[in-house]
Amino acid sequence: MGTMKEGLEDTQQAIINAARRAGRDPSEVTLVAVGKTKPASMIRELYDLGVRDFGENKVQELTAKYEELPKDIRWHMIGHLQSNKVKYIVDKVAMIHSVDSLRLAQVIEKEAVKKDVDHIDVLLEVNVSGEESKYGMTPAEVEEQIDQFLDLKRVRIRGFMTVAPFAEDPEEVRPYFKRLKQLSVDIQNKTIDNNIDVGLLSMGMSGDFEAAIEEGASFVRVGTRIFGARNYAL
Ligand SMILES: *Cc1c(COP(=O)(O)O)cnc(C)c1O
Repeated sequence: MGTMKEGLEDTQQAIINAARRAGRDPSEVTLVAVGKTKPASMIRELYDLGVRDFGENKVQELTAKYEELPKDIRWHMIGHLQSNKVKYIVDKVAMIHSVDSLRLAQVIEKEAVKKDVDHIDVLLEVNVSGEESKYGMTPAEVEEQIDQFLDLKRVRIRGFMTVAPFAEDPEEVRPYFKRLKQLSVDIQNKTIDNNIDVGLLSMGMSGDFEAAIEEGASFVRVGTRIFGARNYAL
């Protein structure tokens, strides 16, 4: 494992290459550096190298780092979010990637009103692989409930997120990325309202982000490849 700077530059170059292979403009892809379990000092190091988008999967860790680090960081909540914790982050995050029920979206709406947050960008988490251990709505649930999500005033549905199953070979999970893209296209086509854009896709992690970009990812969530392996025992 080299330095974080090398890991970052190497990831940024891989993003550019994958976008170009797919005939996409690399600026359409945002790297979200996932620093979960890692100290704020490491995030600060990446911040000093120009990174502004950081992902966390736990509310408490996100708010602790939020307090400690510069305020122009765009924080992305990428982990399962309990309704009773929405109030701690609704005015701190740039985007919630992991909205997995209508009830949760309604709680976010209510807390946004309370905290006077004009709008909050969210993605709907979809379990495209059908793996039981995964959070997220089924594509059918999304289709059934999308109008109710889109009716929310302050919660803005910007697109979809998925966590693919672990695979040694990213080609195994490419079909899931294709399905998420297709779901977004289908829903976009069904909405009559021109102001609605559900085209953002959060998909791809350290092992599979290049395939995800080739299939249309707007956000890739990369932890290990930049920060190194996580030690959950600490
Ligand atoms: C931890 C995590 C990531 C980053 O995973 P790596 O394999 O370390 O890149 C991405 N997305 C979610 C939802 C995560 O929890």
